[in-house]
Amino acid sequence: MIYLDNAATTPVYIDAAKAAEQVYLDVFYNPSSTYPGGIAAKKLINEARKIVASALNCSPNAIYFTSCATEANNWALNCGLKNKKGNIVIGLGEHACVYECAKALKSSGLDVRFVPLDTDGRVTPEALKATMDENTGLVSIMHVSNETGVINDIASLSELAKTIAQRCVFHSDGVQAYLKTNNDVQRNGVDMYSLSGHKIGAPKGIGALYVSPKLNIRPFIYGGGQENGMRSGTENVAGIVALGVATEVYRARYDAQKVKANRETLINGLRSVPDVKIIAENAPNTGLIVAFTALNTKAEIVQTLCAESGVIIGRGSACSSKHSGNRVLSAMGLPQKEIDGALRIGLSPDTTPVEIETAIETIRTSVERLRGGRIG
Ligand code: PLP
Repeated sequence: MIYLDNAATTPVYIDAAKAAEQVYLDVFYNPSSTYPGGIAAKKLINEARKIVASALNCSPNAIYFTSCATEANNWALNCGLKNKKGNIVIGLGEHACVYECAKALKSSGLDVRFVPLDTDGRVTPEALKATMDENTGLVSIMHVSNETGVINDIASLSELAKTIAQRCVFHSDGVQAYLKTNNDVQRNGVDMYSLSGHKIGAPKGIGALYVSPKLNIRPFIYGGGQENGMRSGTENVAGIVALGVATEVYRARYDAQKVKANRETLINGLRSVPDVKIIAENAPNTGLIVAFTALNTKAEIVQTLCAESGVIIGRGSACSSKHSGNRVLSAMGLPQKEIDGALRIGLSPDTTPVEIETAIETIRTSVERLRGGRIG
């Protein structure tokens, strides 16, 4: 099987799984306990915190572990607006966990505004400027799109946001960006940044939120005071440790040149399939997500035919795949007939050129079978 849906989730690195196993079996203690086992568990958590902090170039004290990025994003949106004063601005391309949360805040009476996207799916400075005003208290713009892999220039956007509303908090969903592009939270000028373990070879059920030490935001979950009183609940020690290990493994395996070469091979191959169009081909991107549309096909059928031939590819956000249409591609202005055939390939640092060549031929055959009515 060739797995090319790494934007949906990744297999767990063996070293991360082994580290988690060791916690389950040997260091299973409650990290809040003050006897040696508990102290050892707490030490493991703090070692992982240092690793994640080093990847983001921040102080370990600024990292809070959460159950997933959905939680981290909900925390940022629910608690990032100081004293609930001012308006909230989010990009129209945000993942459902930001978008739906923002919609819920809007229904509760807050002034929530949505920034339109350009045809590459990016938030432009002009669009942000037109949506914000001096009363904006919170801005949330994703770093990398989970639909297209396109990178938003969050450094410029955060700088601009703060010239319009000096005290606004700038949050970015970094799930598809973590370890895949420049994540330096200081250089990017972000106040909050979310990430998820299962996109980089850690298990599902672990995420983190960076919160700038300069911010004074409310805790998200009240209880026993874990995570410095900000996010109570007994820590997922195994998940946290695995996130630390996966971060190190991913960083060691990631090779920007290889990622670029793989993307080129993939794009050139897809272009050779008749009536296939690469989505946002020329916008800055991580190289790890390639979205394309095969005209006159239905994405779910092509996806199934590919899976039957042993090639797993995605189609848009896995979390939203039960919903019809595609909110983000629509916001980019894609016509329905292009959205109908839209698929997404998620590469990993370990993807090989042979896997890519096989995937291209499988996609070609599946598309031709479907167009020729030769299925079933
Ligand atoms: N944000 C983005 C951009 C994502 O791609 C995802 C996962 O698909 C999430 C948030 C949610 O992450 P999690 O599954 O850890 O809740």
